[in-house]
Order: sequence, then structure tokens, then C-alpha cells
Amino acid sequence: MIFILNLLSTLAYAQRVAIVGCGIGGATLSQLIPSAVVYESYYQCGGRINHVLIPGLSALEFGATFFIKENEYVLKQIEQRNLEYYKRDLGKLAIVKNKQFVLQKADSDIINILKMVYNYGLSPKRMKDITDQVLVNFKSIYTFLESGQHYNNLNEFLQIIKLNDIKMNFTEYLNENGIDQQFQEEFVDAILLAIYNQKDVNTIAGLITMVAAFNDAYSIKGGNRQLIDEEKINVIHSKVDMIHRLQNGKYKIFNDEYDYVVVATLVNLDISFDNIREMNNFQYVKYQSTYVYVVAGKISQKYLGVNPEDLNTIIILDDANLTELKQECVKCFQGWNVYKVQGRSELQLDQIFETHQIVYKKVWDAAYPQFSQNLLKTEFEYEKNFFYLNSIEGLASCMELIMIQAKNIANIIKERHNLLMHEDL
Ligand SMILES: Cc1cc2nc3c(=O)[nH]c(=O)nc-3n(C[C@H](O)[C@H](O)[C@H](O)COP(=O)(O)OP(=O)(O)OC[C@H]3O[C@@H](n4cnc5c(N)ncnc54)[C@H](O)[C@@H]3O)c2cc1C
Repeated sequence: MIFILNLLSTLAYAQRVAIVGCGIGGATLSQLIPSAVVYESYYQCGGRINHVLIPGLSALEFGATFFIKENEYVLKQIEQRNLEYYKRDLGKLAIVKNKQFVLQKADSDIINILKMVYNYGLSPKRMKDITDQVLVNFKSIYTFLESGQHYNNLNEFLQIIKLNDIKMNFTEYLNENGIDQQFQEEFVDAILLAIYNQKDVNTIAGLITMVAAFNDAYSIKGGNRQLIDEEKINVIHSKVDMIHRLQNGKYKIFNDEYDYVVVATLVNLDISFDNIREMNNFQYVKYQSTYVYVVAGKISQKYLGVNPEDLNTIIILDDANLTELKQECVKCFQGWNVYKVQGRSELQLDQIFETHQIVYKKVWDAAYPQFSQNLLKTEFEYEKNFFYLNSIEGLASCMELIMIQAKNIANIIKERHNLLMHEDL
């Protein structure tokens, strides 16, 4: 009897799982299924979580920058790994349109509140109440997943967090909820630009952005990439060009066969799928590119139209390319201030700055989905045991959602084959 049980458990354990991509999604899943093989094309794990080290400055994030304290899976990972995190200070924030301020955050909270009420009436308060309720409802997903349950599609996920019964277009949603037009065009659009580099989004992405705007933001000291413990991941540094589904229902990557495959990256032309329903269609999806520059220098007042002195975060509402300038430190690089500059495409830095030196540049061709395309596919399992984890990014893109989706897929795999799992998240 014991022999048979052992054999059964060996058989169960021998079920092979492949994960393509070692960003936070693939890494979280591999932590839950330690026997999984993770393919990663880059020389290190992390994907869209990465930073650059600048002398005199702590890690400067040029991908995923912040999380909020309600992000339970990010927080749990931080605690498990004994990492330290700090509150990000937006400092003096200004929103600029037509080369003029539309909003300028003062030092005093009271003045800020008065300004908001004066400019936008009750809309900021309404928006805050909505985001508070979103956070309360969102908690249900953790109880659900931690009890070992799983959702089968994204509609079920939205039901759990009580966002299934809403208008999917964010503008329509805001209008329906009595949010003032001017507040939408100035404040909401500015935060969307800063966070997603685009204004036209679905309601889930919009609400997640607003939750971020109304709550304190945090980053991990030394870089958010420490959320991923590469040493514990069974990673093969190879780019996967093709995934085949075989007659026997298994999947082939290079010369290896797997029972389960989880694609944990946004799909583009780099990767093809043989005999796997719908997946090749994702190759032609357009993503939002994001150019991130780390620049030392002096911002040109002529270009900006307003005096940039003393401003820490400047969001530009109406520039075709430039969306945000963020002061990272004062006089820390050869006597110059360092800025993180974000654009939609290549930026003419010699116009934006009176004088400048590029310290670092990163082009994200696929930073996020373009949410206006209404990419939402509610499915994420396209063939039996073949999962596209990043389907969830059709809703919104952030570390926590990706970790939630990884946990959900782990629960499915666990239920199906009773794999020996590592301690849960
Ligand atoms: C500029 C920017 C700012 C952001 N800011 C925030 C923020 O402040 N807070 C937040 O929560 N989120 C933020 N995000 C979003 C967040 O970074 C992503 O949602 C999250 O990191 C995605 O993780 P992932 O593991 O799903 O994908 P990725 O991080 O993209 O990982 C996919 C991995 O797969 C690898 N890969 C791709 N193709 C192949 C292949 N064919 N074979 C093998 N490996 C492959 C890639 O090299 C990569 O390492 C930001 C994103 C960007 C770009």
C-alpha cells in the first residue's frame, strides 16, 4: 500500500510545469511550484521590475516603482525576505497644460484640500470614497485564494472583487458616478499619464490608478527587484521561440515535454504557438511603449512654460511625447539634479533641458497594454493546462495583480495534480 502511495506521489510530482518568463509573475509561480522550470531570455530575472544604481542615490526604479500597503502579496514577500521599504514622497507636484499650471500641490495639506475643493468641488471626495470601497472589496480575493480556491476566468475574478457590474469605459464610469468633467480632464488624466503613460483606459485600470493616487506609495530599499529571489528559481536562461501542443496533450519547449505551460510575459512577435488556440493573435496586439530616461541637468523653463524650480513632480497633460518629469535628487550627480523623465517615444532632451547629460535610458516597447484597445479577454487558459498569465493585464498592469494571477494559476495546477507545493505566499 505504502509502495503504491509513494508511486502515486512520485507520479504526481513528475508532472512537469514550464513557465515562460521570470518577471514577478513567473517568479511568484515558481515559488509556489518549486519544481517548475522557468525559461528567461534575459540574463537576470525581474522583467519590468528593474533599477539603476546611481552614486549617492538609492536604487532608481525605471520599471515598476511603487506599491501600496494594501498590496498583501507584495507585502508578504517583503516580510518573508526581510526587506525594508520606504514611503515615496511626491514632494511638490504640478500638473501643466498649455505651458501653465492647472494644479500645484502646496506644502500644507489644508491648502491642498482647499485648492481641490475650490477647483473641483466634491469630486475629489467622491473619488476617494470610491477608491476606499474598491480597497475594501478587493480584500476578498486574498481570503478566496488563500483558502485554495481559484477563479476560472477574469469575469469570476471581477465578481469576487465586486467590480463585475460596472461600465468598462472609465470615462463613462466616472460620469455615472458624478465625477466633475474638469477633475477628470486635469487630475484623473494626469495620474493616468504618470502611471500608465496613456489617458484612455478601462475602468479597472482607472480605478487602480486612482487607488494609487489616494494612498501612500512605497518602494523597497535597494530596489523592487529583490521581490524575486532568483537563487531559489529553477531558471534556464534561454529565449523560447515556439511552444508546440502535441497529440498527447503535452507541450513541447525546445526538446522537453511538459504537462503544464504558463506563459508569464506579454506575448509579442518573439514567440509563436503551434496548435494552441488564439495565442498567435496576441502577437499583433499593440502595447504602450514607454521611454524612461535618467537625466542630470537643468530643466528648460522656456520648454515647460512654468518655473520648474522647487517642483519635484511635473506631469504634462498635452505634450505629444513627454508625460512626466520627476526629480529624484538635488545636486547629486556632478552638481546637477537628477530627473526621471518619461515619454511615449524618443524625447528631444536638448529642448526639454537647458543642459543635460543622460545617465541611463530604457525603452520599454511593451510597458503595458494600450487599454483603449479593449483587450480584455476573460479567458486565461487557452488549451487544457496551457495558461496565459498576463491575460490579466487586459484589466490593469501592476505587480500585485500579476502575483494574484500567479497564485490563482498555482491553485489550479495544485488542485489538478496535487503537486507538492512550497509554502504558500
Ligand atoms: C515603466 C513601468 C512602470 C511601472 N510602474 C509600476 C508601478 O509603479 N507599480 C506596479 O505595481 N507596477 C508597475 N508597472 C507594471 C509592472 O512592472 C508589471 O505589471 C509587472 O512587473 C509584470 O510582471 P510580469 O512578470 O507579468 O512580466 P514581465 O516583468 O514583463 O516579465 C516577463 C519576463 O519574461 C521574459 N521573456 C519575454 N519573452 C520571453 C521568451 N520568449 N522566452 C523567455 N523569456 C521571455 C522577459 O525577459 C521578462 O523577464 C510598471 C511597468 C513599467 C514598464
